[in-house]
Amino acid sequence: MTVQRECTLLDGKSVAAANVDELQLRVSALKARNGSRTPILATILVGEDPSSATYVKMKGNACRRIGMDSRVVKLGASATTSEVLHEIDVLNADELVHGILLQHPVPAQVDERQCFDRISLHKDVDGVTSHGFGLMALGRPAFGSATPAGIMRLLAHYGISVAGRHAVVVGRSPILGMPLAMMMLNANATVTICHSKTSNLADEIRRAEVIVGAVGRPHFIRSDWIQDGAIVIDAGYHDGGVGDIQTDGLAARCTALTPVPGGVGPMTISTLISQTLEAAERTTL
Ligand code: NAP
Repeated sequence: MTVQRECTLLDGKSVAAANVDELQLRVSALKARNGSRTPILATILVGEDPSSATYVKMKGNACRRIGMDSRVVKLGASATTSEVLHEIDVLNADELVHGILLQHPVPAQVDERQCFDRISLHKDVDGVTSHGFGLMALGRPAFGSATPAGIMRLLAHYGISVAGRHAVVVGRSPILGMPLAMMMLNANATVTICHSKTSNLADEIRRAEVIVGAVGRPHFIRSDWIQDGAIVIDAGYHDGGVGDIQTDGLAARCTALTPVPGGVGPMTISTLISQTLEAAERTTL
């Protein structure tokens, strides 16, 4: 028997929009303190991937909406690791730049991990460095990876605690699944991490009180694997506006659900600009 439930829509678009006024006020206050210097997020875009170019543009627009600036460094598709490292060194040394983002993914010939780890910790507003990850995982202050940190902010906004709950994160990428699992562990969830070598994925998901889709495959997680009353978070985004999780019938029987689009995505950008502002505020204390 299916139980009809009140499902909370975790509306990241509205939460991010509601945060804009506060961020604008903080930017104005910061400029008043630091001689009108505008905080800057610098983005490095390597190659011609149209989706990456769109994400970089959206991040620039989000900066301008709150009164910050963005700067884009573009490198060609054949750029080498050394060339990317050089640009990171230049931005690390530039006092006008408060946050650095290397747009993921970079072309295959570039060593992305080496490049991420070259970003100065205090400018790592996208939370991609190994150092930042280690601090975050140990519960020490660090900027969290933007998408998982955005998911945690979204849950907090709706007053949803994962403490004591069994969370199943499907995906273990360094920018999403793995840091999210650590954030949930630090928030006292009991965490299972699933990946491409997991056997009996459906059984693992059936036990989830909180299920996170971070796989990157459209509608890969079937709705009939998800238990009644679950909190459902879909980080996936694919052409046609579908996520990693099949949603048919879920709204009638889960406790909370992120829409796709409009759930996790807007929280990622909101977290990135909020962390950039925080980095700028720290340099002006
Ligand atoms: P990724 O680096 O490709 O990682 C995918 C993960 O899924 C890997 O850990 C992989 O396992 C796992 N996986 C693949 N096939 C599986 C299977 N059959 N069963 C179980 N696990 C499987 O992807 P990502 O960068 O984390 O992104 C994941 C999704 O999130 C994508 O749809 C992406 O577009 C979306 N995303 C959204 C945002 C946003 O702002 N909304 C930001 C980032 C990513 P292995 O480790 O074993 O290979």
